[in-house]
Order: sequence, then C-alpha cells, then structure tokens
Amino acid sequence: MECLAKGPTGLAFISLGSNLDDPEAQVEQALLEIAALPATRLLARSSLYRTAPVGYLDQPDFINAVAQVETGLTPHELLDALLQLELRRGRLRAFRNAPRILDLDVLLYDDLACHEHGLTVPHPRMHERAFVLLPLLEIAPQCMIPGLGAAAQHLVECAGQVVTPTCTTESHWGQPRRSNAAG
Ligand code: ADP
Ligand code: MG
Repeated sequence: MECLAKGPTGLAFISLGSNLDDPEAQVEQALLEIAALPATRLLARSSLYRTAPVGYLDQPDFINAVAQVETGLTPHELLDALLQLELRRGRLRAFRNAPRILDLDVLLYDDLACHEHGLTVPHPRMHERAFVLLPLLEIAPQCMIPGLGAAAQHLVECAGQVVTPTCTTESHWGQPRRSNAAG
C-alpha cells in the first residue's frame, strides 16, 4: 500500500529522542520546531522520559518523548521535514544505535500501514520499544497500531525495559500535557 494521506490533513504521532548536547533542551526545542512546521498543529505532547541506551551501551542515557500533530503535510513531506530538523542540529548517522543529538521518527499517520522506499508506517520497531510506547500511551491511552493491535498490549510485552519519567511529581506524571501551539 502506498503511503498516501486519505484527506487534506492527517493525524500523526512523532517520536523524539536525544542523548547529546543537553538532551532535555534538544527535545523541548524540537517540539517547538515541530509545532512551527508548515500546515502543522501540535495537538499533544508527552512528558520527557529517560531511557538507558540499547545495542551500543557506552553512551549517555536518552531523553524520549512523543508528540501528536494534525498536519497538512503528506507522510513523506512530514518525514522529510523531520529529517531536515535533524540535519539542522548536525545529526550524523555514524553507525546503528550511535549517540544522536536528535532522532525524529514518524510512528503513525492516521490508520496507514505502508512501506515505501525511505518510509515505513507504522514505524517498524515502535511496538518493541518501551521508550516509544510509554510516552505514546501517556497522550493516547487507547492508541491502536495498524496491523498490530493495541499499543498498551505491546507495552506489556516490553516488561524489563527501563524507562523512567524525568519528572515524577503528580502534576506531570500520568497527566498528558497538552499544547495549543499552532504552526
Ligand atoms: P532509527 O530512527 O531507526 O534509529 P534512523 O533515524 O537512522 O534510524 O533512520 C534511518 C532511516 O529510516 C531514515 O533515513 C528514514 O528514511 C527511514 N525511515 C523509514 N520509515 C521511517 C519512519 N516511519 N520514521 C523515521 N524514519 C523512517
Ligand atoms: Mg530516526
């Protein structure tokens, strides 16, 4: 199936990650930049989460978050815009699982399930990653992953992966922080 939006706008979820150069600030800044993308509105954002690295272990912890946007960009345009934001931060693709200043992935776009050169939606590894599922479920508790079922069910299967909220006060943890910032 082609990665084509079905309507003039789509609802998309984006994951954000960073483990270099003040990761919290990198993610917060990227959220502002996502909100300012053309034809795009930030509908919700998760809290920040701290995650131990996987694969290549000799690197700092990651800060992760998920954002929900409504966008007039097509799935390809959205991914291209996100890759541009990564590049502007000087993201280098050194090797698999390398430390990164900023990683932005398109997790979901409406109910699309598609695979094309350079773009796969849903993101092919999202259902295996607690650092994606936990912030996603914070802002979309009922979220379904096309072809794979309830995101919450996949989180159960990620037991053992350590992901902790960076802020554990009640006002943040467990309550989605919503933003009306328009782009
Ligand atoms: P990862 O995010 O899995 O650690 P990268 O950020 O290096 O890896 O991404 C590698 C490539 O994956 C990107 O150049 C991009 O073209 C491709 N890609 C395919 N589908 C997606 C998606 N849904 N979100 C982000 N990147 C994707
Ligand atoms: Mg990526």
